[in-house]
Amino acid sequence: MKRALIRTGLLVQLLAPVARSQDRAPALDSIRKDDLEADLYFLAGDSLRGRLTGTPEVRLSADWIESRFKRLGLLPAGGDSLVHRYNLTWSTLANGNRMRARSGAAVMDARVLEDFMPLFFTPSGGAEAAVVYAGFGIRAPDLNWDDLAGPVAGKIVLMLEGEPRPNDPKSPFDGVVTSVHSDPMRKALNAQARGAVGVLLVSASQRQGGSSRFAQEARGYWPDKPPHLKRYAITTWAEELRIPVASVSPAFASFLLGSRDLAALAKQAETPGTARIQPLDPVTVDFATRVTRHVIDDWNIVARIEGSDPVLKDEAVLVSAHYDHNGTDGTQMYNGADDNGSGTVGLLEIAEAYAAAARQGSRPKRTVLFAAWGSEERCCGPLLGAWAWVRHPGWPLEKTTAVLNMDMIGRREEVPEGGGSRFRGLPIQTAASNANAVNVIGTTFSPDMKKAAITANRAVDMQLRFRYDNNPSNLLRRSDHWVFLQHGVPSVWFHTGLHPDYHTVFDRPEKIDYPKMERVARLVYQASWDLANGPGRPAMLKPRPVPEPD
Ligand SMILES: [Zn+2]
Repeated sequence: MKRALIRTGLLVQLLAPVARSQDRAPALDSIRKDDLEADLYFLAGDSLRGRLTGTPEVRLSADWIESRFKRLGLLPAGGDSLVHRYNLTWSTLANGNRMRARSGAAVMDARVLEDFMPLFFTPSGGAEAAVVYAGFGIRAPDLNWDDLAGPVAGKIVLMLEGEPRPNDPKSPFDGVVTSVHSDPMRKALNAQARGAVGVLLVSASQRQGGSSRFAQEARGYWPDKPPHLKRYAITTWAEELRIPVASVSPAFASFLLGSRDLAALAKQAETPGTARIQPLDPVTVDFATRVTRHVIDDWNIVARIEGSDPVLKDEAVLVSAHYDHNGTDGTQMYNGADDNGSGTVGLLEIAEAYAAAARQGSRPKRTVLFAAWGSEERCCGPLLGAWAWVRHPGWPLEKTTAVLNMDMIGRREEVPEGGGSRFRGLPIQTAASNANAVNVIGTTFSPDMKKAAITANRAVDMQLRFRYDNNPSNLLRRSDHWVFLQHGVPSVWFHTGLHPDYHTVFDRPEKIDYPKMERVARLVYQASWDLANGPGRPAMLKPRPVPEPD
């Protein structure tokens, strides 16, 4: 395997035309595998204990990244600090959660963690009101879909979890995986905006498991001891929600629905226009959620190199990587060398190349931002640092012309036979077949970004694989570029793929292919340089075309 790689490298050098060097970004060769390796052995070393959100070690990681950016003379993106601070909220279950439903003379008391449970983002609160059923409870104006159109004000809304036909390509929603519209917090905020006083969610598919399945899942959701991987919500977002939100068992939901059949309603709700609000007269619910909220600090580190063009410098290309990982559970350590120590040290090298180029008198026309995101790994939903940024961006999103995200850039993709659910939807492939390959994900939103990657690749000659945009593995949505695609910013993810060590204790620095990582980091640097100097901004396709099959 190694020999083949060396031979390829020689071939590239022999064939590279001299004229090509004019297109090369300045200081491209300053991105070196030895530097990447030295940095990664620190960032993914045992002393940083896997950089878990909420630990002293993730703080240390953020401080280290900040000091490296400062040493390069980089400026804050906005304001006077490289630190983009936000808060995250997580909760523990408190005493006093209760729920009672009445239907005429009939009364049903729901037991917490048996028949109902508060959701992790709910405030402590209470509601007593008549219940209405609202299908999936989705409000998606862009899709002309509104399950909440109707008399919701003053009511408790019972809604289905998820979204219609998540795996049907003809679905008006994503059609490959669940879309953002299925996010329960989003649904609850929409219901609140319409005046609802409480929200109850039920999983139609949970029916098969009976009530024991609900109780089992509820106890896993709210374990006695807070788990080392907690559920977080961005605090400012969670604080917008003032009404209580709980999940109820299918059995309890059936009591509320009376003669209506949950499965039949779920089927019906898939067709637009059929799941309009249905009052469940005379059913009322009286419930209270009680949680103790814990707030922690978290940080994105974002630096800027100012563009040289007096006009174009107001626009920025953003290069990013998340620096957090999964920490340690006390007995095992998840170092996260590939995920995503690799992208983070790549980001540092790229920033350093820009600083070196600037020292030589070469600056890009547009500004370039370097963002190390926090809490990408953390649920729910993930990508929390990037979401915190787009909610309060230190640089205007409309002036952000492109995002180049790196997440896992140091390995050879390997999808083994019988690899199990973690490789769901990905074709079997060997590490050898991906020795010089990198996936570029997100280009179906913007062919200009595909062109930029292909052009930049002349400097490194890798195999670019434009795939996985439309894949049940959901890779498209599994890193921070996704947040920017949601906000109309052309964005791609450079990713050398999953492998058997992904999210295991074996994702360690000694497993990294450093020469390959050097090529990926140079590729991203070159692409960012080209985009920052290009005559125009890459365009975003609207509406997004149906992606070609993988
Ligand atoms: Zn990652």
